[in-house]
Amino acid sequence: MIIFLNNKYLPLEEANISPLDRGFLFADGVYEFLRTYNCKLFRFDDHYNRLKYSAEELGLAVPGKGNLKYIINELVTKNHFSTKEYSVYIQITRGASFPRLHKFPVADCEQTMLIWLSNISSNGIENENGVKTILLKDLRWGRCDIKSISLLPNVMAKQKAVESNAVEAILMREGYITEGSHTNVFSIKNSVVSTAPLSNFVLNGITRKVVIELCKNHELKISERNILIDEILGADEIFLTGTSTEIKPVVEVNGVEINKGLPGEITKIIQHLFYDYVKEN
Ligand code: PMP
Repeated sequence: MIIFLNNKYLPLEEANISPLDRGFLFADGVYEFLRTYNCKLFRFDDHYNRLKYSAEELGLAVPGKGNLKYIINELVTKNHFSTKEYSVYIQITRGASFPRLHKFPVADCEQTMLIWLSNISSNGIENENGVKTILLKDLRWGRCDIKSISLLPNVMAKQKAVESNAVEAILMREGYITEGSHTNVFSIKNSVVSTAPLSNFVLNGITRKVVIELCKNHELKISERNILIDEILGADEIFLTGTSTEIKPVVEVNGVEINKGLPGEITKIIQHLFYDYVKEN
């Protein structure tokens, strides 16, 4: 596997990062994750804009859009991905600096940029049958709109879900649902599809954005509003969205069955709209 690290293309085994890298010491960095459909990067501009937003909020620089595309294309060639679907992981940190000081380094520091491509594993059976979820307190910081590499509360929440025999943790803050540990959450009641509005407590998910567009374009009622915890437990249908998750029906929350433990009809319609849409892109 050939990766891109600090202006070099090199085998993963030969890639080294300094122990002084602020990504390692402070989780001082941002990341982005995107994928292809039909061997074309899906909603590249949206992902690029989110990376730029996250980076700029933290005073980090991003490469130009053309430059980033060029690097990804080089990786596609070097890793023989040109006829395959793949995902792209991009991480930018503030780089290595000594002594270890909280404040941003002034001069001695160059950002670290890491990019790799991976194969995509299918969601198959989970997205057909639906998954179990649990509710957990949202322990994250107040800037979840930034796609920061500081993911410990997300990691803890996902692990708790796995240990509870569930696939995702749905997070709650002050009585409302925010999002999942690595997904956005939608609930449906009386044919109205709802998801938490964008705020500093929610990531501006690209799949979320696509689903909202699809609902609007196909006359499905869609509402961006705060969802109470009781509403999620009494929802007619629930689904999760994400780049690797796609559209994943939820059939159980904290042991409570949703739609008698089956993926809902509107969720299935949205799944179909989504798969039709990505085929055209
Ligand atoms: N929320 C969080 C916390 C996430 O990590 C992700 C995955 N990046 C999402 C939502 C979904 O975002 P997207 O649809 O852009 O993958």
